[in-house]
Amino acid sequence: MRWEGNRESSNVEDVRSGGGRGGMGIGGGAIGIGTIVVALIGGAVLGVNPLTLLGMMSGGGAPQVQTAPGPPPTDQMGRFVSTVLADTEDVWKDLFTQGGASYQEPRLVLFRGAVRTACGAGQAAMGPFYCPADQKVYIDLSFYETLKSRLGAPGDFAQAYVIAHEVGHHVQNQLGITDQVERARLRGGPDANNMSVRLELQADCFAGVWGHHAQNARQILEQGDVEEAMNAASRIGDDALQQASGRAVVPESFTHGTSAQRQKWFATGLKTGSVKACDTFNTRNL
Ligand SMILES: [Zn+2]
Repeated sequence: MRWEGNRESSNVEDVRSGGGRGGMGIGGGAIGIGTIVVALIGGAVLGVNPLTLLGMMSGGGAPQVQTAPGPPPTDQMGRFVSTVLADTEDVWKDLFTQGGASYQEPRLVLFRGAVRTACGAGQAAMGPFYCPADQKVYIDLSFYETLKSRLGAPGDFAQAYVIAHEVGHHVQNQLGITDQVERARLRGGPDANNMSVRLELQADCFAGVWGHHAQNARQILEQGDVEEAMNAASRIGDDALQQASGRAVVPESFTHGTSAQRQKWFATGLKTGSVKACDTFNTRNL
């Protein structure tokens, strides 16, 4: 992927050094029931305690925190993430403008280990995630080592896809889709996992939409890049992850979609560049 020298985002909050300015100032109060987070992969994969996720989903009383950004990252990985984020800003700003709307840029928090968010306590073991309540993407960069070594998905465009997927959740939030899904979830019913799958596959499709327009505008793709992202999409399918962890494959438990579905929707976005083509909520053929 060609990214060196491209614009870096001013929306990165680097709190990796811990202590100091990042993450300790307390504001707000307990988190309301029903706060949701949307992650890249299913929770059990990285060995996160399900109770931690539960605590995050239902509040748990963690104080809301405003993280104060440090200086922009100067390390290679930090600059990479910042550049990809900037590229998503450019693409989504254009697409929103074309649709007669304005795009509010998300912020991205680089953390290490654990982080407090408006959605509750976040952990590196959850993988990258987006918190709709504070409109921030959270990532511990050690996930990229996991992605490469444990999940078998190396490559910089695979890493960019991870960011673009989480930004896809922010786009859904901006479009009001997250709220609709959350209301459906609160109403209950047997369909909660199905709604989650549709939300996640749409985020994959939006990641592809970003790739399409970034390529058109800036020719970022190199030989093998698309294959890297398609491989990553496959490796983090619910069926692949359950198999890799030695568990039985249980389709009813899927929250993110199968490998084939994740590849299909990323490819759809990448090929068409069209938000409309990403309507995973109104198709019978996921
Ligand atoms: Zn997701």
